[in-house]
Amino acid sequence: MTCILKSSIWAALSVFLIFCSAPALAALRVVTTTQDLASLTKEIGGDEVRVDTLTRGYQDAHFIAAKPSYMFRLNRADLLIYQGMELEIGWLPLLIQGSRNPDVMVDRPGHLNASIVIEPIEIPQTLDRSMGDIHPFGNPHYLLNPINGIRVAHLIAERLSQLVPDKKSFFQKNLENFTERLKVKIMEWSRRMEFAKGLKVTTYHRTWSYLFRHFGIQYTALIEVVPGIPPTPRHLAHVVDAMRMDKTKLIIQANYYESQSAKFVAEKTGSKILSLPVSVGGVDEVKTYIGLFDYIVSNFEREMK
Ligand SMILES: [Zn+2]
Repeated sequence: MTCILKSSIWAALSVFLIFCSAPALAALRVVTTTQDLASLTKEIGGDEVRVDTLTRGYQDAHFIAAKPSYMFRLNRADLLIYQGMELEIGWLPLLIQGSRNPDVMVDRPGHLNASIVIEPIEIPQTLDRSMGDIHPFGNPHYLLNPINGIRVAHLIAERLSQLVPDKKSFFQKNLENFTERLKVKIMEWSRRMEFAKGLKVTTYHRTWSYLFRHFGIQYTALIEVVPGIPPTPRHLAHVVDAMRMDKTKLIIQANYYESQSAKFVAEKTGSKILSLPVSVGGVDEVKTYIGLFDYIVSNFEREMK
């Protein structure tokens, strides 16, 4: 009798557990390479997706070690979303290969290169990898233009709808809600950044090109020699000259770069250094894609107005 009672309790408990965990089990498993893409995916996918991101916003996505644990995470993914344009070339192909997951292989619906919807800038005239150039197909930091965030959000909604067709209207509703909020914010940020039009800035890497074009900011010089190659004393002397000539008084750099070179240049030119996150998760306060621009714009205002 006790045994029958116990087994019926277990049966009821199992049904309860299956029922409770059903939405989580049904959720589409998405792996993104960056926290920006994870944020956009969550905006569109809501509870219908479970998003895991491979890198953190305080890491340089160009240079990540392809850990075996990443392959394991990718092994269970239904969809991989990455930035492309070779941002992840040093590590992602190894992970895809090692994941042994046919769903995320190139040309499968579970493989999504988000850069296919953006217009690349800074495509080099000649491709010379011997120079260490890590932007051979143009600048891959395109999510720093919020308008590209809208484009990528549409792409993600389209792909999620393809993979989970019965949730299409849910994804579409979330997309409309997100783009509406983002468009209002884009107008607000443009208004607040009006003062920065024509501002001349030195940066470490060309991380900021899309953002600068959006707000009308110009580069004076780059602290690194070419994308991916750290500065030499001779190169830093050129940077100082260029900044003196252009009367540039601001250095901006992603907060994961070494700061010694920027400090050296700042001392010689009397400039300010603004160290900023370039992705969601770059600092603790930045938890969403919209939050990233709120943070960047507020810091520009605080330092420059
Ligand atoms: Zn780069």
